[in-house]
Amino acid sequence: MEAKIEEISDGVYMIDPCLFDSMGYIALYFITQPKRILFDVGPSVTAERVIHAIEGLGYKGEQIDYLFVSHVHVEHSGGISKIASWASNAKIIVSPASVRHLTDPSKMYQAYTSSYGRFASLIGDYQPLSQSSMPRVVSTLSELPLGDRRSRIIQCVGHAHHQVCLQLDGSLLGADILSTQFRINDQLLPTSTPPSFNYPKYTEDLDTALALNLDRLMVSHYGAFDNPTEIITKALDSLKWLRHQVESLLKEGLLADEVADTLLKGLNCTPPVDNEYAQIKAKLSLIGFINGVIKVRSEKV
Ligand SMILES: [Zn+2]
Repeated sequence: MEAKIEEISDGVYMIDPCLFDSMGYIALYFITQPKRILFDVGPSVTAERVIHAIEGLGYKGEQIDYLFVSHVHVEHSGGISKIASWASNAKIIVSPASVRHLTDPSKMYQAYTSSYGRFASLIGDYQPLSQSSMPRVVSTLSELPLGDRRSRIIQCVGHAHHQVCLQLDGSLLGADILSTQFRINDQLLPTSTPPSFNYPKYTEDLDTALALNLDRLMVSHYGAFDNPTEIITKALDSLKWLRHQVESLLKEGLLADEVADTLLKGLNCTPPVDNEYAQIKAKLSLIGFINGVIKVRSEKV
């Protein structure tokens, strides 16, 4: 199986590494101008496909300038060891909170494998970044030096405290700032996976993104959108809608797990992914969100 690669605008490519041998699970982005930046490396199981796709465009590993790891969740970063040894000159851009996970990803990996059932065995291992690659890790930049292109590295910690996004001119590579992958009654399901989801910060991240007046938003789950204001507004409205649903079900006396199961009945996904996977991931997000709502309510009291 090959990765699917699509040029979404001049020199900007979306790479779908076909995780679980199917499209629609995760999108990586490859920017070729003025520097070569791979935004997220994907899991280890698809690392060879990603390398092959980029080499197919005519680039060698040594020509990659930056590996941008948005956050250290396994789907986004599990292939870092393989990809970093291929891209042997690349600086590895991460959040300061990610650095220790690159040398010891066992906690991140364990969290994934304990939640994802049979899919855990299909994501590959998560090898730590070699000590010889560590000097290439950079966690303190607020922008990438890209000449006259405006670039900003933005901490977006609502989804995970170790998430960073990349703004390039009017485009935001937004990782998991929002997702369009799952909908509950046609509202976007937030990327609220426990334990690191932070509800107030998640809203702040979306407000920040909205204020950037973007003309393109690229997210990991899934794809590039030329109507970012619309999508971000939809994500904010969906949060309010979902919170209302959660609060009324909690008021009826349902437990968090029961609230999640009730809401899951309205689940649909675009693009279609495996139903069992969708159920697992959506339920995790719902539990994370419900806990977030409970936490915010208890802090207000
Ligand atoms: Zn994530």
